[in-house]
Amino acid sequence: MKKKSPKINILEQDEEIHKLVKTVVGDEGFHIINHLFAVEKADEFEIADSLEEDVNFVRSVMYKMYTNNLVSYTRRRDPERGWYIYTWELIPQKLYHALINSKQKKLDKLFKQVEEEKNKEQVFHCPTCMINLEFPKALELSFSCFACGGMLQPLNNVDLIKNLDHEIKGLSEKICILKTKLNEL
Ligand SMILES: [Zn+2]
Repeated sequence: MKKKSPKINILEQDEEIHKLVKTVVGDEGFHIINHLFAVEKADEFEIADSLEEDVNFVRSVMYKMYTNNLVSYTRRRDPERGWYIYTWELIPQKLYHALINSKQKKLDKLFKQVEEEKNKEQVFHCPTCMINLEFPKALELSFSCFACGGMLQPLNNVDLIKNLDHEIKGLSEKICILKTKLNEL
């Protein structure tokens, strides 16, 4: 893996990475990940020793990271005791990939939502009775409310679409920034 110096602590300096890791391991596990970031690679006993933490706690934090695909490990068998010792490695690229993936999923949903809104049949609305009617029904009623006889108003989703478009733009920009950061690692 290529290295650059000085190493920026993305866990402390990148707000989104910070939040992601805290969401996964909680406040109580964060210092363990911070330590792993500093040393890059360590087995759970080394981490526990360095931080004077219980090895089971360290392991539980690492499993949380691992199930979210944020760390890698290699394992070797302890020749004396016969059990496996896991060496954990924090790979910053994985953190950025996770952020990009979750934002991409959200973006796909927004695209779908905006498409649905654009394809929606015009809805008509009675402001007095708060009734919504689809276009064919409103036409049948000559655009007057069946309950109060008042004039039906077209209910448009232009503002909603505008907001969704705005959200899409913001999210796309964020993904772009994250991809740039990922490439600079
Ligand atoms: Zn009405």
